[in-house]
Amino acid sequence: MVGILGGGQLARMLALSGSPLGLRFRVLDSAADACAGDVAPLMQADFTDLGALARFADAVDVATFDFENVPAASAEWLAERLPVFPAPAALAITQDRLAEKHAFAALGIDTPTFAKVDSREELVSAVAAIGLPAILKTRRLGYDGKGQFRLRSPRDIDTAWAQLGSTGTALILEAWVPFDAEVSVIGVRARDGEFRAYPLTRNWHAEGILSLSLAPSGLESLEARAVAYARAVADRFEYVGVFALELFVHGDRLLANEMAPRVHNSGHWTIEGAVCSQFENHLRAVLGLPLGDTSARGFCAMVNFVGELPDRAAALAQAAVHWHEYGKVARPARKLGHATLCARSCEALAGAVTQLASRIDRDGQCAPLLAALGESPSRER
Ligand code: AMP
Repeated sequence: MVGILGGGQLARMLALSGSPLGLRFRVLDSAADACAGDVAPLMQADFTDLGALARFADAVDVATFDFENVPAASAEWLAERLPVFPAPAALAITQDRLAEKHAFAALGIDTPTFAKVDSREELVSAVAAIGLPAILKTRRLGYDGKGQFRLRSPRDIDTAWAQLGSTGTALILEAWVPFDAEVSVIGVRARDGEFRAYPLTRNWHAEGILSLSLAPSGLESLEARAVAYARAVADRFEYVGVFALELFVHGDRLLANEMAPRVHNSGHWTIEGAVCSQFENHLRAVLGLPLGDTSARGFCAMVNFVGELPDRAAALAQAAVHWHEYGKVARPARKLGHATLCARSCEALAGAVTQLASRIDRDGQCAPLLAALGESPSRER
């Protein structure tokens, strides 16, 4: 029995991919309507409820996460009672953007210039040292662009401080990177240290939330360096499971933004587009089973549905579309589903994405991915 802390769409897709392996799941989430509850038994409890954690620990053989912000103390409490992967220590570093950036720097991995900000005075001196534009982020609990403020001029300091700093939250200021592209490495490390990575994925965000992914990225010259970075991070943390290393491409620089210690939205294309999906590989790693093949089967595009789902029947009228709906109530900025298209060539993928975008009225959303496909040299698999 595999236990998953956090019952969102990632837990749901983990459970769905584990079923053919003969696995059964139990999910713990504070929300009664957590969407993984549709496919696996859900225990509703707070992550800090030790009575509930004890019942959870009794019911499962191994535990993992769909959510990186499970309190470190709860993860450690569980790890004293049963195998927990990734280890709570790896989770703890990625929960703090400052500790994470220091860890990247110690491994020789380039990052945006950054500075710790614990007071208004430190914000003023960090702005002086780093320059503008810059981005102020909460060190903890931020995701999908939440807990972030972009500073364009010194006049923004007061507003940024009022919004993020005044409650005593620890912050980090980062130089704004005028990136040419965003990419992620989806990597997996087994219990015995074996490491594999999927082809580099190119990503586009809208309002801080992933909007589109393209894999392979078309930026193959960066692949070896990006994968070496991911491997160094995974080895350093003795990481077990799937993770995502998110990087900015700026000229010939590759700058690490953050590491997500879990299966990742930018790896959803692997369900249909890779020989073994990120979800199955995570479970294989966590259970000490041999890792699966991370090769891509062709060229894939993933279109995220945030806030509102398009018409399902309109999308499915295109026979090649893979449709994923998470069973969540629609709310602004909420990830509700995604669609994946796979093809044997870039040209065929561009044609398929153009068709889907028009069917579901997402031409604007899909435009950046289509532009990148249009610019990339003709490739086939
Ligand atoms: P994060 O929550 O750190 O992953 O940020 C969400 C998104 O905001 C990133 O994927 C970027 O699109 C943008 N972003 C975050 N930090 C920076 C930065 N230092 N420079 C430029 N864009 C950024």
